[in-house]
Amino acid sequence: MTIDFSCQKCETSFEIDAQDLIDGTEKLICPQCHARAPASIAEDFVSALSEMRAQVAVLGKKFAINMELESEDLVEELDSKKDDEEDELDAEEEDLEEDDLDDEDEEDVEDEDMEER
Ligand SMILES: [Zn+2]
Repeated sequence: MTIDFSCQKCETSFEIDAQDLIDGTEKLICPQCHARAPASIAEDFVSALSEMRAQVAVLGKKFAINMELESEDLVEELDSKKDDEEDELDAEEEDLEEDDLDDEDEEDVEDEDMEER
């Protein structure tokens, strides 16, 4: 499955195979001006993509799927549903450097004592 991207900055269109994004062999980066999404957003996108692909495969046993996703449409849909502060995508110019590299904090998930019942 190939995804078409169009750079908001320089308007270059390019394609990346979803499989390559999921494998990490391709990065989501503009071939022209090298603009890219903040690391955390790119990661979320790739994991959503991989989840979507899995779900489509499962559902495919019942229904063949062919869908078109356009971010411009989606942004409007999301805006009309919730108008809280989802400003991340508007702050593009400022946050395009890698900033979110610090979300690797270790999780101290303490198991509560699992007593036998
Ligand atoms: Zn570009």
